[in-house]
Amino acid sequence: MLCSLRVLAAIILLVAAPYSLAAVILQYHHVSETAPKVTSVTPAQFKEQMQYLADNHFQVVPLTEVVASIKAKKALPAKTVAITFDDGYRSTFDTAHPILQAFGFPYTVFVSIAPTAKGYRDMMSWPQLQQLAQQGATIANHSYRHDHLIRRLADETEAQWLARVTRDILATESEIKAKTGQSVKLLAYPYGEYNTRLQALLTEVGFVGLGQQSGAAGPYSLLTALPRFPVAGAYADMDSLKVKLAARNMPVVSSSPTNPELADGHWQPRLQVTLEMADINPAQLRCYLPGQAAVKPQWISADSFQVQALKPLPAGRSRYNCTVPSKHGHGYYWFSQSWVRPDDQGQWLIE
Ligand SMILES: [Zn+2]
Repeated sequence: MLCSLRVLAAIILLVAAPYSLAAVILQYHHVSETAPKVTSVTPAQFKEQMQYLADNHFQVVPLTEVVASIKAKKALPAKTVAITFDDGYRSTFDTAHPILQAFGFPYTVFVSIAPTAKGYRDMMSWPQLQQLAQQGATIANHSYRHDHLIRRLADETEAQWLARVTRDILATESEIKAKTGQSVKLLAYPYGEYNTRLQALLTEVGFVGLGQQSGAAGPYSLLTALPRFPVAGAYADMDSLKVKLAARNMPVVSSSPTNPELADGHWQPRLQVTLEMADINPAQLRCYLPGQAAVKPQWISADSFQVQALKPLPAGRSRYNCTVPSKHGHGYYWFSQSWVRPDDQGQWLIE
C-alpha cells in the first residue's frame, strides 16, 4: 500500500511539474587558494558549498546516473546534482576528494592523457587517479592532449580531421580503461568547444558530450551537449550557486541554428527557439548576449522567439543565455547556446 501510494505521489508530482526532471551539473577546476581565480574556488568555499548541498537535501549522484536517466527519459529525484572536475588537477586529489569523501558525495574527473602522463606538479598522477577511482570517483574523457577538437590542422580534409579526432577520443578512453578499469564514454569537450559534426561523431562512437554552457541538464538537453554550470571566480559565491542549483531544464522543442561554429562572416547569429509554454510566461523571458544588457526577445509566434546580437560576436567562444522563471514553481528555466568563431582572417585564437 505504502509503495503504491509512493508511486501515486510520484505520478502526481510528474503531472504537476513535468519540466522539473532536471539535474544540475557543477563544473569545477581547482579547489585552491593559489591557482588562477578564474578557474578556482577556495577550499573554504568548496566545503561551504558541499555543506549547503548536504544541509538542503540535494541528491548528489554520479554523473553516469544523470546521463542514464536522461537517456531513458526517466525522472530524476528532485534536487539532483552531479559534481565534475575538469583536467585532473592535483587539488582534486589533495583538497576536494577528502571533503567529498566526508560528505559521501560521488563525482567525476575529466582527464586528458598527455598532461597527466607528463607528471606536472599540479596535475594528478595515474596512481592518484587510480586511488580516486577505487574510492568511488568516475574517471572520464577530456581528450588526449586537451586540444581544441573542432580545429582542423593545416591542409586537413574533413575526413582526415574526423579520423584524427575519433582516434584521439578512443585512445583516451582505452588509456583510462587500462589504468582505472572504467570506460563510461562521457567526453567533456576541452574549452567547452564543439560543433555539430563533432556532436554527430560522438553519437556515432556512442559517447555523451558535456559542454561548459549554463543550464540544468534534462530531457530537453542534447546528449552531445549537456550543459554544466562552472563554479569559479566571480561565480563561486553562495548566492550565485543557489541560483544555479534552482535551475530548470528549458523545455526547448527546437532551436536553430544549432551549430556553435560560425563561419564566413556570419558573426551575428539569429537564434530561433521554440518552447513548450505550459509553465512559461513569454513576457518574463530574457536573453543575455555578449556585451549587451538583458534583452526581451522577439516573439514570432505563441511559442517561438528569436534573438540576435546587436554587434558581431567576438572571435573565440561566446554564448546566448536565456532564462525565464517557472510560472508555478521555484527557480528559472535556462537555455544556453554556445558559439565559437575564428577571427576575421579565419584564424583561431591562440590559447
Ligand atoms: Zn579542460
